Amino acid sequence: MKAGEPEEFIVDGRRLDGRKVDELRPLKIEAGVLKRADGSAYVEWGGNKVLAACYGPKEIHPRHEANPKRAVLRTYYSMAPFSVYERKRPGPDRRSMEISKVTRQALESVVFTHLYPMTAIDVFIEILQAQAGTRCAGITAASVALADAGIPMRDLVPACAAGKVGGHIVLDLFDIEDNYGEADLPVAIVPRTGEVCLMQMDGNLTQEEFEQAFELAVKGCMQVYEKQKEALKKAYEKRGEEQ
Ligand code: ADP
Repeated sequence: MKAGEPEEFIVDGRRLDGRKVDELRPLKIEAGVLKRADGSAYVEWGGNKVLAACYGPKEIHPRHEANPKRAVLRTYYSMAPFSVYERKRPGPDRRSMEISKVTRQALESVVFTHLYPMTAIDVFIEILQAQAGTRCAGITAASVALADAGIPMRDLVPACAAGKVGGHIVLDLFDIEDNYGEADLPVAIVPRTGEVCLMQMDGNLTQEEFEQAFELAVKGCMQVYEKQKEALKKAYEKRGEEQ
């Protein structure tokens, strides 16, 4: 047992933060929160607070990165120094580069980049507060920001993790579960087609546990998807009223 590890993760069917095994943390999504960006979104998901801002399609710099067949999607995931308990050193590191890359790959599967050759679409994801699951919160926010910018997409990309803690398969791990649990399985999907555009795994699961966790994560994604659509509808209505 690691130092600080809770003796039990589930007591009387409830997790340490009071949730059931298949329950998401409270999730709020707001679209169009930043005036200067072409599109933006703010996500509060349990203790995670995430801002995503999107610019483009726009002229690409440096020019040699231009692709004559499609827009280049660039994603920048960054954790604020004050987002975690101990100050995080600012600037890119291996982890943020990896998360930027998997985020880009997930979003590339939905954005119609072929419509905008020679341009760039930039997406910035700022983690203001972290409580595990920030890559899922980041992808969720980023796809809303892209849609808010009016960039043509096949669909939104909701993301959600499931995992294993204290021998139980649970949805949407929070930090204690993530730190001391047995496995974490972040998943992002394209709901219209059911394609999986992100799947990573930390820890160990048997094949049966994996299938159970995957199914639970997809169910979580579908709940996130509803909130994403609601946020965009609200932002469009608000803009309509302002005009
Ligand atoms: P995710 O946030 O997608 O779950 P990880 O599994 O890498 O990604 O990180 C889990 C959690 O660990 C983060 O959400 C954050 O709460 C914490 N964490 C990540 N990096 C750091 C860091 N450099 N310092 C302190 N805590 C961190």
